Amino acid sequence: MPALHALTNADLHCHSTFSDGTLSPPSLAERAALNGVEVWALTDHDEVAGIGQARTAAQALGMGFLAGVEISVSFAGQVVHIVGLGVDETDPRLIEGLRQTRGGRERRARDMAASLAAVGIPGAFEGALKHVGNPELISRTHFARFLVESGHCSDVGEVFRRFLKEGKPGFVPHRWAALGDAIRWIRESGGLAVIAHPARYDFTPTEEFALFSEFKAHGGLGVEVVTGSHSEAEMLRYADMALEFGLLASRGSDFHSPTESRTELGSLPALSGRLNPVWMALADRVQ
Ligand code: AMP
Ligand code: MN
Ligand code: MN
Ligand code: MN
Repeated sequence: MPALHALTNADLHCHSTFSDGTLSPPSLAERAALNGVEVWALTDHDEVAGIGQARTAAQALGMGFLAGVEISVSFAGQVVHIVGLGVDETDPRLIEGLRQTRGGRERRARDMAASLAAVGIPGAFEGALKHVGNPELISRTHFARFLVESGHCSDVGEVFRRFLKEGKPGFVPHRWAALGDAIRWIRESGGLAVIAHPARYDFTPTEEFALFSEFKAHGGLGVEVVTGSHSEAEMLRYADMALEFGLLASRGSDFHSPTESRTELGSLPALSGRLNPVWMALADRVQ
């Protein structure tokens, strides 16, 4: 691995079969290494059970590794994702917080299936479950895969637009972790908290300002600027936000699947030189 200051190809956000990705941690590691990733993080939703496999595979490939997680948070009536980087996945406080956060997923999934059945799509719970790798982590993505497979929609994007976004027939509101709790679990386990894909939320400017301010007040330190779900204009906007709020900048593909993800592992634009890369603050956590 090159010295961290010279490093450009960090990919610090992706998902395995331990949440809603379709590849195992070792397959992701191999794919990242083939694409020239120098430091890689696995950040499954609300789950760290894949970290051991990911680390072993990354080390065998000579690739730097950061243990990560992406925590689902409820903030101002919306879901916000907070990525933790450089966590200790064995910390009991983190493990217990994630366990609680995962807790309501099965109930929610059953309610989602009932509301889909009411609009003429039966069997969605069992159908989604066939795509699930981790029984504690049934997600909307697994429902989306079932709806594509069963011919109701042509791709997962269409499923979200028609059925799974807020206000659509299969959407079931859910209470996730509190922002302060998620940041605390990350910090207590030695990690650094990062706001994931900020352009993906539907906040008013006031709400967004509140998110960034409260995030900082709780000890959050970073924001994703370059992510698979940001346009070029959004990357520029959140580069400015990172500087305005004094946050470190992160870069991650949010890769889920070779056929569904917009962005390949390790193939994002570089972070602008005017930003402070988050991995510089994580040198002692790279494994
Ligand atoms: P959940 O945690 O069960 O609410 O599922 C959230 C996941 O759904 C996200 O992590 C994404 O992987 C996926 N997702 C959300 N919105 C979309 C969308 N518009 N298109 C495709 N996938 C989406
Ligand atoms: Mn996901
Ligand atoms: Mn996310
Ligand atoms: Mn993600």
